[in-house]
Amino acid sequence: MKILVINCGSSSLKYQLIDMDNESVIAKGLCERINIEGSKLTHKAEGKEDYVVESPMPDHSVAIQLVMDALLDKEHGVIASTDEISAIGHRVLHAGTIYSDSIVVNEDVKKVIRECFDLGPLHNPANLMGIEACEKVMPGKPNVAVFDTAFGMAMPEKAYMYAIPHEYFEKYSIRRYGFHGTSHMFVSGEAIKFGNLDPKNAKVIVCHLGNGSSISASIGGKCVDTSMGLTPLEGLIMGTRSGDVDPAVLQFVMNKEGKDINEMLNILNKKSGVLGMSGGVSSDFRDIAKAAEEGNHLAEVALDAFRYRVAKYIGAYAAAMNGVDAIAFTAGVGENDVNTRKAICAYLGYLGVEIDDEANNTRGKNQVISTADSKVKVMLIPTNEELAIARETLALV
Ligand code: ADP
Repeated sequence: MKILVINCGSSSLKYQLIDMDNESVIAKGLCERINIEGSKLTHKAEGKEDYVVESPMPDHSVAIQLVMDALLDKEHGVIASTDEISAIGHRVLHAGTIYSDSIVVNEDVKKVIRECFDLGPLHNPANLMGIEACEKVMPGKPNVAVFDTAFGMAMPEKAYMYAIPHEYFEKYSIRRYGFHGTSHMFVSGEAIKFGNLDPKNAKVIVCHLGNGSSISASIGGKCVDTSMGLTPLEGLIMGTRSGDVDPAVLQFVMNKEGKDINEMLNILNKKSGVLGMSGGVSSDFRDIAKAAEEGNHLAEVALDAFRYRVAKYIGAYAAAMNGVDAIAFTAGVGENDVNTRKAICAYLGYLGVEIDDEANNTRGKNQVISTADSKVKVMLIPTNEELAIARETLALV
């Protein structure tokens, strides 16, 4: 059975066609600059040359049609007919408080995605466009919505309620939701399997460290806490996002610099994090590490602060769960940055964490990186959100 996975941004569309018989990627690609001049599709298929189509894409429907043309193309394609695609799985950012699981799309589901435009202003409209484009181009094919907020919906009230007047929760559903949910679900599940842990009771902390970073605590695969909040701004220090910050800082800077709240949030989302802390060196962790090595003090502080914040959250989550069986690192930094993993684990001696330097010198594959004596199993587990979406889709169709 073949499943098409779609991840729509406001001007982009990523896709993968996955053969669920062996969970292999048959083809994947990216449409860029949708509704902007210079639209381009790059299509990659196993064992074939990359195929680039430069053609106007005024909207997501045209992009989806071009993706279908590429998948069906005599020379570069991988299927003979759209009948070979059993279903389409969509990454959708926000389901508000309505859905805590993936769901087959119908009119009610689309209505909820639309009602959550406020909560996910950049993503939800694009996600809905992707769904509607697939409905138009492949009528009758089941579409499944896999929500980034679903994993966090299992959090108990004490973890998801903000200490602000309750009426804001009642009126506007203001609470902590958490993001990267598909990744946290996938990695915590893989960590349990790969680490041979008790599937019902294992206490697992997943550190998803990339440009966007978040951390989750789960017991038996069910989320008990996660670091992102109403929006992805809360929690860890990221490439360009500040993570946790005293809200009074906003008022102070706004008054001093004559900025409005939109400008201020733009600064916290796009100009802060290691980019801001380093005085503008870069949002890319490789550049930050290089600058730190070369003696740039601010870059060094940014990197230290990033690692320190992760270690603090691990401590908090170990306390929240009254223990931790496994810690899993994932995403761009978590999967590749040997030094960051080592530096974070150096804070965790009190938990009985012991890293095996040789095992830690690994990138991009499942690997236990703690010693046999370590009280906590520390692992490197590459995330695979597309496969997670395809599995969810398969389970529902
Ligand atoms: P996102 O999906 O949030 O955009 P990724 O998970 O792709 O981010 O992670 C991107 C980050 O991973 C970049 O900042 C990049 O520098 C970092 N990264 C990738 N490889 C390495 C490496 N070998 N060492 C340190 N950082 C790395």
